[in-house]
Amino acid sequence: MSHATAAAEFVADVDRARWHDRALWFVRSKRDKCAQQLPEWEALRERASLVKQHTASRMAEYLEEFERNAVALGAVVHWARDAAEHNAIVYGLLKERGIQRVVKSKSMLTEECGLNPLLESKGLEVVDTDLGEWIVQLRHEHPSHIVMPAIHVKKQEVGELFHEKLGTTAGSTDEKYLVGAARAELRSKFLAGTAGITGVNFAIAETGGFVVCTNEGNADLGASLPALHIASMGIEKLIPRMADLGVFLRLLARSATGQPITTYSSHFHGPKPGGELHIVLVDNGRSKLLANEELRRSLNCIRCGACMNTCPVYRRSGGHSYGVTVPGPIGSVLYPARDMQAHKSLPDACSLCGSCTDVCPVKIPLHHQLLAWRKTLVKAKVTPWHMRAAMSVVGGVMARPWLFRLGGKLGRFALRWSPRWLTYNGLNPWGAQREMPPAAKQTFSKLYDDGIGHGSARMDGIDKDQNKLD
Ligand code: SF4
Repeated sequence: MSHATAAAEFVADVDRARWHDRALWFVRSKRDKCAQQLPEWEALRERASLVKQHTASRMAEYLEEFERNAVALGAVVHWARDAAEHNAIVYGLLKERGIQRVVKSKSMLTEECGLNPLLESKGLEVVDTDLGEWIVQLRHEHPSHIVMPAIHVKKQEVGELFHEKLGTTAGSTDEKYLVGAARAELRSKFLAGTAGITGVNFAIAETGGFVVCTNEGNADLGASLPALHIASMGIEKLIPRMADLGVFLRLLARSATGQPITTYSSHFHGPKPGGELHIVLVDNGRSKLLANEELRRSLNCIRCGACMNTCPVYRRSGGHSYGVTVPGPIGSVLYPARDMQAHKSLPDACSLCGSCTDVCPVKIPLHHQLLAWRKTLVKAKVTPWHMRAAMSVVGGVMARPWLFRLGGKLGRFALRWSPRWLTYNGLNPWGAQREMPPAAKQTFSKLYDDGIGHGSARMDGIDKDQNKLD
C-alpha cells in the first residue's frame, strides 16, 4: 500500500489526525525551548555530525576495536549480516539455555528484524517493557513513532485496553492509576523473565562498553535481573571515544522529547557478575548505505525522532502510514535503499520544507536526500508513469518562461470563472480537504516589475483586508 493510500485512512479520522498533529507539535516546541537554552547548540550539532562522519569513514576499524574491547570485558560479540541472521543468533542463544520468557526494553532494531513474531512463533513469551511499546504490543500493532511508540493512541483507548487486559476500572482515564496498573503487571513480568534483550543507543569503540537511554529504567531492570543479557545493535551506533558521548547525550534527549537529559543513561561494561552478555552487531543494509556517497550521512542518525515531530506530513498522516519500522523523513530515506519498489512512495511523503534538516541534531540533509531519491526513482523508472509524464510536462513549462506566464494566465482565468465543481470533484483528491486561494489579479513578477518594495507601488497589488497579494 502506498503512503498516500495508508495516510488517507488515518486522515479520515479528522479528530485523531488533528490531535496527533497538535501532540507532536507540542513535543517539537519543547525541543525548541530546550535547544535554545544552550548557546552552544549549533556547535554541538556540528561536532556530532563530524564525529559520526569520521566514524563512518573508518567503520571497519572502529567495529573491530569495539569487538576487541567488549570481548576483553567478558562480552561475547556476534556479527549478523541481516535480520534473519540476527534472529537466528538471538533465538539460538535462548534455545541453548532453554529460555521461555524474555523481557525486552525498547529496541527499534529488533522491531526492524521482526524478532518478536519469530520468537513467539517458537513458543516463547516476549514482553516489551517500555510502556508505549507494551501498549502497542497489547493492541497487536507496530510502534508508530521511534521514541513515542503509542503516540497515536488516546488515553481513553489505553483505559479500555487495560480494562480488557488487566482488569482496571472500566472507563478510567486517570494516567497515574493506569501507569500504576501497568507497573504492577510489568514488574511481575520482569521477575519471571529469564533473559533480557535491550537495544543500544551508543557503543564506544575505545572502551567496548555501550549505553542504553530510557526514561522508565526498564533497560536496567531487564538487563540486571535475568542472567542473560542480549544487546542488539545496528553498526551505526558506534562512536569512537568516551569523550564523544557527552555531545550525543546532550543532543539526544533535547531533540527527542525536549528534556535536558534522558532519565536513565545506563552504561554496560561486560556482563554482570555470574551473568552473560551477548552483543549482536547487525548490518541489515547499513553497509550498502555506507557505500552510497549521497546517502551515507543517513547513518549519522541517533533515532531521536525530532524529524518526525516536526514533519508536517508525518504529523498529519501518522506513523503507520509509512508501513515501516522507522517512519517519517529518516525512514523515507532509509527504506527505499532496502527495496526501491516496495518503498517507492516514501520520498514523495515530503513537502521539501526542510524543517527535518533544520532540527536534525546530527545534521543529516534529509530533505536533500529525499529529493535525491526522487531523482533516482525517476531515473530507474520506478516512479509510476503518470507521475513521470506529469513531471516532464511541468519541467517543460518551467523551462520556457513564456509558456509559464501563459499557463499562469490561463490558470488564473480558469480559477476565477470555471464552475466550482470543475475543481472540487471526486476526480481531484487534492481538493477533498483544501480550498484554493482566490486567484491573484496581478502576478508577483508584475508587482516586482512595478517596484514592489520601493515605496508606494508596494501596496498597490496587496489586498489589505485579506493581507495577501491580490
Ligand atoms: S534523522 Fe536526525 S532528526 Fe531524524 S531521527 Fe535521526 S537523528 Fe533524529
